[in-house]
Amino acid sequence: MNKKRRPSILIIYTGGTIGMVQRPQTGTLAPVKFEQILQEVPELNKFNFNIKTEVLNPVIDSSNMNPARWVKIAKRIERRYNEFDGFVVLHGTDTMAYTASALSFMFDNLDKPIVFTGSQLPIGMLRTDGKENLITSVEIAAAQQNGKSIVPEVCIYFDSKLYRGNRTVKRDSELFSAFRSVNYPALAVAGVDIKYSSEFIFHPNSNGILKVNTQFNDNVVILKMFPGMNQNVFHSILSIPNLKGIILETFGSGNVPTLRWLVNAIKRAIKKGIIILNITQCEGGRVIMGQYETSLELLNAGVVSGKDMTVEAAITKLMFLLGQGLKTAEVKKYLNINLRGEISE
Ligand code: ASP
Repeated sequence: MNKKRRPSILIIYTGGTIGMVQRPQTGTLAPVKFEQILQEVPELNKFNFNIKTEVLNPVIDSSNMNPARWVKIAKRIERRYNEFDGFVVLHGTDTMAYTASALSFMFDNLDKPIVFTGSQLPIGMLRTDGKENLITSVEIAAAQQNGKSIVPEVCIYFDSKLYRGNRTVKRDSELFSAFRSVNYPALAVAGVDIKYSSEFIFHPNSNGILKVNTQFNDNVVILKMFPGMNQNVFHSILSIPNLKGIILETFGSGNVPTLRWLVNAIKRAIKKGIIILNITQCEGGRVIMGQYETSLELLNAGVVSGKDMTVEAAITKLMFLLGQGLKTAEVKKYLNINLRGEISE
């Protein structure tokens, strides 16, 4: 391989189990120095790649992730964008799907891979899943065809599968197959070879310049319906000062109880300018408002259909759109349509 074409990959370490050790005093897992992680994976040197690493301090358990940290990760990638062919972000699994979703919305004209990965067992442990996850993520981030990245998307690689980040959810806290993407196929599967499903991969057709949008609005809430929800609870959530948007997690294809107080409260909230986005509690399938009597009133009240979006994609998209200074009608319009492959039209 000629020297000029040697792929360059930037690995950004943000924290998570992959880089944790057990504290002898307490027995709890806490992040360690990044250099220790790389020592555990000498195999990376066998790639004929130019691999650089950066740490996003302070390294955290991803349960401490927030929009300010999403922006920090995105800005780090933006700053080094022209120097590298692809990016691997090491991240805790707990909120990885939220971060990957948020970043997918933040980047305009992304044409290089941003591969999130992590592990269920720390990389220093004998049975760790971290080594394979990291090594294959680097290979995917470097993969090119005709001088272009094969997967120019924000994605999650875990346990042999590459998923679109904003289609992914964490589904298991113990299994190595911690993630799944029910409503969208894997972008690649790693076996003896890495098999890419090019028909499912998004390829930007613009030659636009990378742009990072960094504003989020956190005046939002996720409200999960359950049989017997108390109306005082519902009313008090809807009357949170300055509330701008609600992800309403509904039953089945977008249904709620046909209770007068509930429908009236939703109507009042929408009149006040609060955006309500209907997302199903089901793992798969989609919201179809009006299919049942129990969702028709929501449709008539002006609730927006989240179709087949994950909760993670929905909440980050809502926070992102509200942060862009758009009119309420525009936010509603964009919530309902495909921006980054997060929703099926
Ligand atoms: N609590 C950890 C985190 O999300 C779990 C993990 O990395 O798998 O940072």
